[in-house]
Amino acid sequence: MKPAAFDYLCPSSLDEALHALATHGDQASVLAGGQSLMPMLSFRLLEPPWVVDINRIPGLDSIELDGGMLRIGALARHAQVMAHPLVAQHLPLLAQAMPHIAHAAIRERGTLGGSLCLADPAAELPACMLALDARLHLRSLQGTREVAAADFFQGLYQTALAPGELLTEVLIPLPEAGSAMVFDEFSRRHGDYAMAGLAAWSHPARQRSRLVFLGCGDRPTRAVRAEALLNARSPLPTYADLRAAIDADLHPEADLQAQPDTKRHLATVLLQRAWPHL
Ligand SMILES: Cc1cc2nc3c(=O)[nH]c(=O)nc-3n(C[C@H](O)[C@H](O)[C@H](O)COP(=O)(O)OP(=O)(O)OC[C@H]3O[C@@H](n4cnc5c(N)ncnc54)[C@H](O)[C@@H]3O)c2cc1C
Repeated sequence: MKPAAFDYLCPSSLDEALHALATHGDQASVLAGGQSLMPMLSFRLLEPPWVVDINRIPGLDSIELDGGMLRIGALARHAQVMAHPLVAQHLPLLAQAMPHIAHAAIRERGTLGGSLCLADPAAELPACMLALDARLHLRSLQGTREVAAADFFQGLYQTALAPGELLTEVLIPLPEAGSAMVFDEFSRRHGDYAMAGLAAWSHPARQRSRLVFLGCGDRPTRAVRAEALLNARSPLPTYADLRAAIDADLHPEADLQAQPDTKRHLATVLLQRAWPHL
């Protein structure tokens, strides 16, 4: 199918883009890598009168250290994040997760910001951002809002973005020395969205952790009962113990990938596999 007709804007500065978004509000869609937006337009799931292409805005794709943070621009491509030495050095969780995202051609175009703003509950990057306690910068003509990843994802394809706002960058605190990180997932074929996945961070000595599951709810979901078990640092729990925690923490709906019971089983197996490394 072909998209419905729309007017195309291609601003060359952030200011110009913010003016366009302020003028057209919820009548405008932002175009980043286009890997999700273009199919949605072609299938006419979305028919925005205006499309604002942000690809020509300079400086939105940088990846740099800033004090105790890694700052990643919203337009950083998946392939760029995957290959970046600062990511490999400081955020092994992200480095482990990136190869699970789609296929090489999609990773060349798809962006960090696009994945976060789409907020697919089975996507890898939203779960990683929650596990890493990232902060998202939302810009509009009124200024910049900083929103924690925990508050950004609000439901199935729902985020805290308001009309007129653009996600410009993500700030990720550098994990403390002694942190452990594991990313793992089950998908039907490599590159498919996950049936269930786990983005895990822990600090064994400080008995703190964030265990975030993807594909197991309407948004990336922290498993707080499982975190309490892990923080207690008891010997490796049995499958039944872990499954009881997962059953209390996760309430997945059936989707194209798996039934709820299968998802809870896979989540338990992911936890069992990650446990010795956390
Ligand atoms: C075959 C296929 C398989 C895939 N498999 C996976 C997978 O396994 N895991 C996975 O995570 N993803 C997967 N994807 C999606 C891929 O990762 C996309 O790149 C990503 O979802 C969207 O990124 P994008 O830059 O292409 O965003 P776009 O498609 O350009 O935009 C997506 C949405 O975000 C909005 N948006 C984009 N950038 C901003 C911004 N800076 N501020 C505000 N709003 C913005 C757009 O308006 C749109 O609503 C797959 C895609 C395809 C086509």
